[in-house]
Amino acid sequence: MINRVIVFSDIDGTLLDHYTYSYQLSKPGIALLKEKGYPLVLVSSKTFPEMCILHRELDLADPFVFENGGGIAWISETGDKNDYTVQLRGMDTGSLEEYVPLLRSTIGGDIVLLKDMPVEAVARITGLPEDKAALALNRQASLPFITGKELQLSQEDVENANNILAKENLMLTRGGRFYHFSSGKANKGDAVKEVTGRMIAFLKDNTLKTAAIGDSMNDLPMLRVVDIPYLVKNQHGYDVQTDFPVTRTRDSGPSGFSEAVRKLCNAD
Ligand SMILES: [Mg+2]
Repeated sequence: MINRVIVFSDIDGTLLDHYTYSYQLSKPGIALLKEKGYPLVLVSSKTFPEMCILHRELDLADPFVFENGGGIAWISETGDKNDYTVQLRGMDTGSLEEYVPLLRSTIGGDIVLLKDMPVEAVARITGLPEDKAALALNRQASLPFITGKELQLSQEDVENANNILAKENLMLTRGGRFYHFSSGKANKGDAVKEVTGRMIAFLKDNTLKTAAIGDSMNDLPMLRVVDIPYLVKNQHGYDVQTDFPVTRTRDSGPSGFSEAVRKLCNAD
């Protein structure tokens, strides 16, 4: 018998195209997962209100992880897919702001927090319409930021910074467009472990396997903790290195997502 698999997936640059935010090319993969009866758990740096819209559009019935693991939206026990119970896992944004001077001195350069930008600037950087850009600013447990051109942090720079930030139980990671500053607990790996434990208990099936699909540095903690990790060829241009085995897709973005699902379901 083939085990069921819980599939965790990143959104931007994986399920959605990095530039157009279209999920047209990931639809065949999503349909294949629904056909197999495999749960699809979205795990993103996006905010709760941003993810609610996509979760409903895709008609998904499983919990989702927002702000890189800063929170989990559980489906209500009544099974009503439009009723979520929100669990915050990380430090709130007000508390995180107190540590911004430490962040600045640790990475040694100038940064601009997303929350300090006018919504028009966020819309310009993300390519989102202003109403959707406003939802991206609705943060509960993380502070995204950009750096100036003179300060581009390599994966090694981020790891070195994290050695210092970890002493205050803080962390830094990088998605497709932004760096993200949060408490150490608010990472995709810890959130995925929490969801897996709860779903195994709820479904009363301890033969469940886990898979994850992602394209960026912030996906590595999630790819590291699952049985079957897929690293989607990224569309944003920086290299993502791993010190554990992953299957890399040939295609990028949502096409790479569907490719990973086909490989997982032995349909390739
Ligand atoms: Mg991504």
